[in-house]
Amino acid sequence: MKDFGLNIWGDDNFIIQNDTINVNIASKPSLLKITQDIRDKGYKGPLLLRFPHLIEKQISTLFNTFEKAKKEFGYSGNFQAVFPLKVNQFPNFIHSLMDVSQKFNYGLEAGSKAELIIAMTQTPLGAPITVNGFKDKEMISLCFIAVKMGHNLTITIEGLGELETIVQVNNEFNAHIQKPMTPKIGVRIRLHSSGIGIWAKSGGYSSKFGLTSTELLEAYEMLKKHNLLDKLWMIHFHIGSQMSDISPLKKALREAGNIYAELKKRGADMLGAINIGGGLAVEYSQHEGRQERNYSLEEFANDVVYLMQEIAKSKEVPEPDIFTESGRYIAASHSVLIAPVLELFSQEYHEKGLRLKKENPPLIEELYDLYTSLSREHAREYLHDALDHMESLLTLFDLGYIDLEDRSNTEILVNLIIKKSIALLREEDTDELKKLQDRIQEKYLVNFSAFQSLPDFWGLAQIFPVMPLDKLDKKPTNPASIWDITCDSDGEIGFDRELPLHLHDIDVSKEEYFLAFFLTGAYQEVLGMKHNLFTHPTEAVIHFDEKGDYTINNLIEAQNLMDILDDLDYDTNIMDKTLKYRIEESQYISQDEKRALLGKLYLYLSENSYLKTIQASNETQG
Ligand SMILES: *Cc1c(COP(=O)(O)O)cnc(C)c1O
Repeated sequence: MKDFGLNIWGDDNFIIQNDTINVNIASKPSLLKITQDIRDKGYKGPLLLRFPHLIEKQISTLFNTFEKAKKEFGYSGNFQAVFPLKVNQFPNFIHSLMDVSQKFNYGLEAGSKAELIIAMTQTPLGAPITVNGFKDKEMISLCFIAVKMGHNLTITIEGLGELETIVQVNNEFNAHIQKPMTPKIGVRIRLHSSGIGIWAKSGGYSSKFGLTSTELLEAYEMLKKHNLLDKLWMIHFHIGSQMSDISPLKKALREAGNIYAELKKRGADMLGAINIGGGLAVEYSQHEGRQERNYSLEEFANDVVYLMQEIAKSKEVPEPDIFTESGRYIAASHSVLIAPVLELFSQEYHEKGLRLKKENPPLIEELYDLYTSLSREHAREYLHDALDHMESLLTLFDLGYIDLEDRSNTEILVNLIIKKSIALLREEDTDELKKLQDRIQEKYLVNFSAFQSLPDFWGLAQIFPVMPLDKLDKKPTNPASIWDITCDSDGEIGFDRELPLHLHDIDVSKEEYFLAFFLTGAYQEVLGMKHNLFTHPTEAVIHFDEKGDYTINNLIEAQNLMDILDDLDYDTNIMDKTLKYRIEESQYISQDEKRALLGKLYLYLSENSYLKTIQASNETQG
């Protein structure tokens, strides 16, 4: 896996040139070069790089593919889309998103009051805003205020209670007004068909959201009674995220399409849009045969357009506008997390760690001979002998016949023999060798927090493509597991025989080695938690100018220690005073030393909580 599955998950966004992974645009800079540029400015620890050109690519691909499908079928409804804010609300992302999407009249979807405020301030007037999720009177009032500002906003009602509140708020806002302004109304329907995969709960009959058929009829009557029927314009459903298979979507489309047609025939004249929610999947897989989705965007768009057209035709109603709220598909590819490797744990299993004595137990002498004379021809036989010897030596230790140094020599020699044999027998790929890889897997300690930066790995076992930034001209030989710097054993991406990751054997005291985690732009940032108080990593936005050069913009450093504590509502003034007081009053330090210690302390307080390492060679920091 020298290309780390780039052809499966990469979508031509990155390219391997010489020995590095490069951004596949303009001057094709390597991620390593960009990383080093940022670190040269003094930013250490993990870095989150954002690429607005990749957001633009996803948005334009989405619109162009649907436009193409519409043309092919001669479909008369419009295609429109909004970005669901819950997927990523970070300002550096949202500003880039709004910036690159201007020509598409792209809007935002909000699911809470705070998200609604983002939508009201970031969306250009006229671009669609949809408001989903549970709402109280205040949130509905905010929607009315947005409409009075000139926003093109649709409230999706999730239950009948919300509709009652809308009627009430409408009276309050519009009763004695010359030009009443009311948001457009959507209804979320409760489907019988449900999604599949780990996020399937958002669809289906037991879903948290949506109106049943009975409720839908009641809603219709209520809207009619209060003269709001002319505001009902959207049917909405969402069958769950990362939809791996297209068939549940087709079922849902048939259900929703027929509900649209029935309401239309009943008299909902303004009804004109079907909002199919999100769910469009991202290919995260790094391994052939393990793909996560079984359809292309073309197939997805064709199915939606075709099915809507069929239903409209057979029920003799106009073809509705098609609305999507794809989030993961738009955001996932735009960011890359880059983290320095701090240490390889089993470097102790190194020849230089051997403590051979003048006289060693015979079995250890034999192990040493096996190791030094290991060749391709005898590799399998010697390997079996070594494993056998190890069992005997460990028993001898338990019985008190050999000492701790002998035991350490045994561990090192057997590890070295396994490693060497696997390298020699690399082409054979037998089950036995695969199993042995578990034994010699190298633990890479990486300067990041999986809880903060890959929470879906922790919570849902979602995988993310990972690869080193350089050495890509060399075959990586270490079966690798990745350990983050939290003190939590869940912060580990273990070696998986079925989905093996191999990394290079490097000496981090001599050279830097960075790992990049891709497709982290959807959900990870905002779901990330401050376990152990590791916060959102330092981030930067990478733009490309006309000449093809890149610029590094909007750098935001990870929070410093005192800001982290301030966020937890500690009184950092008191903490600051306490630290100072304890140094000043300490009976163990001289007056001069106190000043020096205070200086150091304040320097440390101004930094973020990720680790730094001093390298042996030159003072490069991790
Ligand atoms: C979460 C959500 C989305 C986005 O789903 P993706 O799978 O990220 O595209 C869209 N619509 C609604 C209502 C949602 O709750």
